[in-house]
Amino acid sequence: LVERMRPFGTTIFTEMSALAARTGSINLGQGFPDTDGPAEMLDAAARALREGANQYPPLPGIPALRAAIAEHEQRFWALPRDPGTEVVVTAGATEAIAAAILALCERGDEVVTFEPYYDSYAASITLAGAVRRPVTLRPGPDGRYTFDEGELRAAFGPRTRLVLLNSPHNPTGKVFTSAELSLIAGLCQEFDTYAVTDEVYEHLAFTDAAEPHVPLASLPGMHERTLRISSAGKTFSCTGWKVGWATGPARLVSAVTRVKQFLTFVNAGPLQPAVAVALGLPEAYFTGFRDELQARRDHLTAGLTAAGFAVQPSEGTYFVTADITPLGGTDGIEFCRELPERCGVVAVPTQVFYDDRDAGRHLIRFAFCKRESVIEEAAQRLSKLG
Ligand code: PMP
Ligand code: GLN
Repeated sequence: LVERMRPFGTTIFTEMSALAARTGSINLGQGFPDTDGPAEMLDAAARALREGANQYPPLPGIPALRAAIAEHEQRFWALPRDPGTEVVVTAGATEAIAAAILALCERGDEVVTFEPYYDSYAASITLAGAVRRPVTLRPGPDGRYTFDEGELRAAFGPRTRLVLLNSPHNPTGKVFTSAELSLIAGLCQEFDTYAVTDEVYEHLAFTDAAEPHVPLASLPGMHERTLRISSAGKTFSCTGWKVGWATGPARLVSAVTRVKQFLTFVNAGPLQPAVAVALGLPEAYFTGFRDELQARRDHLTAGLTAAGFAVQPSEGTYFVTADITPLGGTDGIEFCRELPERCGVVAVPTQVFYDDRDAGRHLIRFAFCKRESVIEEAAQRLSKLG
């Protein structure tokens, strides 16, 4: 293994899912739903398989899916996209993120991102020979995570190539506000950088978030410098399909496509028409899914609070973060390794998503994208912790 990849061990999701399987625990670690997505989408995939959509699709994705992605962005975010030149389909958001960084960063270029960050960010930045400049998110007086404006400004410099922004944010559940987005947009323009946005939870900003989700690309001056990334996995409960996409100005999408063609070339032939169907579902699907997840968040939050954790408010995503300090915990990794034996539940230690591990040492993340009965059972088990 090359030296620069040696610090990256097995991902925490793999480790914790294996622990759940080994101990027969309820897995609230890795974020994947335990029910299937919309029937229309599943039927369309089955039809496509039988009708022979089983060979290489076109490099940028099948026309029907690119059209559906463009229409979806117009419908929900008023972002106009030309499906011919401004949309590319990728193997999940993960490939889009990696391809974007590989396509845009020279060796030694810097990527500003917020920590805790999704684990593939650090690895993709390192693969590209770039350098990460994390800005730490910390809970403010109202419990909502935020960042220090001075720290963000200090992270920018002459080598900054891009800002990698995830909102709604995994693992904190933070939805960046328009004031925060304006600050980020201002610095991108002042330092003439790109922005790459990871919006895989675009439909999971809850109704009680401080503000609704707004794509950074829709702020003044940002359209031409922003590459927007999303994925079907979270919105349509099909994380194993790995159908993602990147949209933005043609020159950025074309750069991503250039790299993507040598990473995977193409992916998910028979699933692409199915995701096109899903993206065209009526608005009620998207709001219904959000409301369902919000109810589960409330259920798990109540269970965790009753069990004695100090629970941080989650405004979106699949996740809620809990502070283990009131239960006598000091180190999330230790706590998560012992949790299956203590009560038959698996969570993920948040510190692995930080460069500044101390900032997240006492925090662990629970996924609530599970059936009501599973969340109830998890809550029962956790109540025995005290
Ligand atoms: N970004 C974030 C913030 C995520 O939580 C995930 C996990 N779904 C991904 C990217 C990866 O998405 P995909 O499975 O589509 O590659
Ligand atoms: N995005 C999911 C999570 O944060 C899972 C990602 C993975 O397993 N690589 O839990």
